[in-house]
Amino acid sequence: MGLICASLNVRNTAEARAAMLRARAAGADLAELRLDLMAEFDLPALLAGRPLPVMVTFRRQDQGGGRALGEAQRLALLDQALALGAEYVDVELGSEAGIRRAGPGKLIVSHHDFAGFPPDLQTIARRIAAGPADIVKLAVTPREALDCLALYELPAGLGKPAILIGMGEAGAASRLLALRFGACLSYGALAPEECTAPGQLAVAEMVGAYGAKAIGPATRLFGVIGDPIAHSLSPAIHNAAYRQMGLDALYVSFRVPAGSDAGGFLRSHARLGFEGLSVTLPHKLAALAAADGADQVARKIGAANTITVRDGRLLADNTDADAAVGELAAAFGGLGALAGKTVLVLGAGGAARAVAWGLAARGGARVVIANRSRERGMNLAAELGAEFRPLDSLAGLAYDALVNTTPLGMHPGVEVTPLAAELIRPGAVVFDTIYNPLETRLLREAKERGARTVDGLGMFVAQAARQIELWTGREAPREAMRRAALEKLRRS
Ligand code: NAP
Repeated sequence: MGLICASLNVRNTAEARAAMLRARAAGADLAELRLDLMAEFDLPALLAGRPLPVMVTFRRQDQGGGRALGEAQRLALLDQALALGAEYVDVELGSEAGIRRAGPGKLIVSHHDFAGFPPDLQTIARRIAAGPADIVKLAVTPREALDCLALYELPAGLGKPAILIGMGEAGAASRLLALRFGACLSYGALAPEECTAPGQLAVAEMVGAYGAKAIGPATRLFGVIGDPIAHSLSPAIHNAAYRQMGLDALYVSFRVPAGSDAGGFLRSHARLGFEGLSVTLPHKLAALAAADGADQVARKIGAANTITVRDGRLLADNTDADAAVGELAAAFGGLGALAGKTVLVLGAGGAARAVAWGLAARGGARVVIANRSRERGMNLAAELGAEFRPLDSLAGLAYDALVNTTPLGMHPGVEVTPLAAELIRPGAVVFDTIYNPLETRLLREAKERGARTVDGLGMFVAQAARQIELWTGREAPREAMRRAALEKLRRS
């Protein structure tokens, strides 16, 4: 099991002491003191009576250090820290011979690459391990999340503990995943607003939401791929579910850019040990194409939002359709009540395909598709045996329910709405699949006109719950997932 180290962003001794207390309260095991970033410090005062073990660093300038200091003076400071009882000092590869080991603290020898991902990672790691280091540290910058696979192979062959970090957004998941593959420590920021690097997480979130201190070789792996993905609620709700279920499992997000090989990504992570992956925009079609097998719903919809890895095979599912149908069925008092109802679906993209297919095939509803681009809308309508209406000829349509599957009204464009208020039918059910914000302008106006409203969070939780059930064979705790989503939305 790994340690969580809070990277402190402080300017002087007083701030450092306050930050160490906050780090301890957040659940950090130790705090990193970057002396090179501090304008003023008194090392004995800094270390005397410290509330947490510390890792002391005065980063060399060519390795990202904040300011220059003569090499002898720099190393003397680290020796002084060891003599004062610092639990760890971190010195750059090439400078380690200058450390006299004036105390029992452990020596971390590190190599940073802020510009790229060294092809000779193994060689660098072995070079560090062959020297006086107690702990090998590599912080490198992957171009894409796939690069990080090379990091996870390192601990097994080194014979010494390792700290392995993929910096930047492409390395974000490595801050947790490296712990699963044998890294002994990971860094976090004191608070979300104090994150100093993209991909960095706050200590409290690592320890609380991700259960980072319990991550070990037996931790089951799940995740989500998409682009953009940084603000996805999926990690919050999946990890909350695993905590509630008492499962030793971790769910991480990967930014897999549009145009990259999503199928290859899924396959390599299946080989790495991932048991399930959620798939979101823009990879739902590619996920289906890459799968070795697919359930009927995913095939009919032509898109997969779920990959389950079974005996090394990728199996595709689509849990959006049932999730959406469940929401509307609940609003009408049961699945049976949906049959024959007229449902106007706004949009003809991926979500619309799942929603419209589910409503027609599972619910027996009469679906009407309205979409900006006529051709896309007509094609979907034709596939489903549904009616198509251009967006500007909806007046007079007597629908029982309306479903918005366009992104219109989603944060930050909250003042936009996909349908003029006067076209909302009093008494109809209006379901907006958007969940950020929970009450969109469409739902606000629907309430004002006497319609019944359904927000998108229930569908979001339901599709994720079904994924967990596919992957674990156990019932997912929907209430805990909903609470986690609301908490995350409130904080963001
Ligand atoms: P998508 O495949 O890109 O489809 C977007 C649809 O919205 C297309 O039909 C597009 O019309 C239409 N659209 C986009 N911008 C528009 C505009 N300015 N004016 C009019 N129509 C516009 O995206 P998707 O995967 O279907 O996702 C769409 C939304 O569904 C997401 O933003 C999300 O909020 C929601 N969703 C929610 C859940 C949930 O669990 N609650 C799950 C999935 C999706 P064209 O065909 O003309 O481009």
